[in-house]
Amino acid sequence: MNKIKLSEMDANFKNEVASKSGAEHFKRCFTCGTCTASCPVAEVNDDYDPRKLIRMILLGMKKETLSSDTIWMCSRCYTCYALCPQGVKFTDVLGVLRDMAVKEGYVPRERLEQAREMDKRIQKLRCELINQKLNPNDGKKDSIKCLLEDELNKKWIQEEK
Ligand code: SF4
Ligand code: SF4
Repeated sequence: MNKIKLSEMDANFKNEVASKSGAEHFKRCFTCGTCTASCPVAEVNDDYDPRKLIRMILLGMKKETLSSDTIWMCSRCYTCYALCPQGVKFTDVLGVLRDMAVKEGYVPRERLEQAREMDKRIQKLRCELINQKLNPNDGKKDSIKCLLEDELNKKWIQEEK
């Protein structure tokens, strides 16, 4: 991460986030790391770290947080939500960050819908792949290939700022 310049931080960002429904308790975080250690996305993506995102909010790194690609990586599995000893409800905090990113123009309005749609397709792909492992002879390889190629060829609308 680049150096943090205190003069560029937004001291009110943490209060703004905590005022939104679902994120009221995020300041309770005591950095235990349970969320990061249990997160299936963090397991495969070194850049994704729920605990770090919470620190960024607390430090007032509004622009960096709301324009970060990582807030779109969460698969909303709720594992961290269930395991957090402080009841931070990180999955909901993430939802608040996504809403703010859209409302404040960091990403196009369509991004939320695109993310939801892609999550659905990824779950479909996952089910198809598991089915393929369990039933390798049911001839569905081509539909899996099509699903994957279709998703790879889709672009999300470019950021507005
Ligand atoms: S599990 Fe909860 S308390 Fe621990 S780092 Fe994550 S959000 Fe903070
Ligand atoms: S809800 Fe998101 S951040 Fe929490 S464990 Fe699941 S993928 Fe990770």
